Amino acid sequence: MLNPGGPPAARTAPPRTGIMPLNVDLHSHSSCSDGVLPPAQVAARAREQGVDWWSLSDHDETSGLAEAAAAARELGLGFIPGVEISVTFCGLTVHVLGLNIDPEQPDLRAGLAGIRRSRFERAGEIAERLQDCGIAGAYEGALRQVDNPDLIGRVHFARHLLEQGHCRTLQQAFDRYLGDGKRAFVPMRWPSLEAAVAWIRAAGGKAVIAHPGRYRYTLQQFDALFEAFKSLGGVGLEVVSSGHTPAQCNRYARVAQAYGFEASRGSDFHAPGIPRAELGRVPPLPEYLTPVWRDWI
Ligand code: AMP
Ligand code: MN
Ligand code: MN
Ligand code: MN
Repeated sequence: MLNPGGPPAARTAPPRTGIMPLNVDLHSHSSCSDGVLPPAQVAARAREQGVDWWSLSDHDETSGLAEAAAAARELGLGFIPGVEISVTFCGLTVHVLGLNIDPEQPDLRAGLAGIRRSRFERAGEIAERLQDCGIAGAYEGALRQVDNPDLIGRVHFARHLLEQGHCRTLQQAFDRYLGDGKRAFVPMRWPSLEAAVAWIRAAGGKAVIAHPGRYRYTLQQFDALFEAFKSLGGVGLEVVSSGHTPAQCNRYARVAQAYGFEASRGSDFHAPGIPRAELGRVPPLPEYLTPVWRDWI
């Protein structure tokens, strides 16, 4: 018993003490990409969930950062401007987080604009493949799901398919139609790892490999990814992610140590109602790792 004979323990969270780690969540999405809440509402939710430092990291898009920064300032929430860039490496899509970027940097802006053009073209092809599956009007349907048409992605098609009763869950939309290799999957050639890391560095940010546990690489390919990333000037690995099992968090903690990467923590929040991917609720970063945010916070 911690407090023998004393008053009953408080049921609310204890006040923050010097030894409590900061709640840092450096991966989340708004309706500027495939999240559902506008940036200011993501900020408010991060605050409510006890986050101390937050990054908005929309897919291939930085248009929400100004609103996010202003909202965070109002709320007294620490803010790190971010982006999550899609790249192709060894034939698979990898997501690279750019953290603490200057979104106005011209190379980064031009690179992200190019990715958004590819997304727009892909959307037409996804709709054609869905048409071949007997699903008409998916392009218009997906566009109705998207706040920012430049950022049309698979999640918007999935939300449309769910709304129209073509599947029972979002996951099923991916398993049946949109997931890698499925019937309406359109293979993409995103920019190279080299290009994305160069844009992030040019913009003064740190490049971090997002949710490494999600990639279906062989051990050799993972080694090639980490070696290439390191040699290009990539600095971090997202060790703690809602996309990771506890075993995967442990594995990537060891990988971060082995390669000398700093470590990041992110919920990859997209929408309320998914407790596993709620803002600020993923496990803490293991203490023996060097956090990517050590220079900023
Ligand atoms: P996109 O960048 O448009 O290709 O969409 C990628 C996004 O779709 C990811 O960030 C996830 O939010 C979601 N996603 C991709 N694959 C799956 C999957 N198999 N199951 C559920 N969601 C997925
Ligand atoms: Mn997403
Ligand atoms: Mn991702
Ligand atoms: Mn993400």
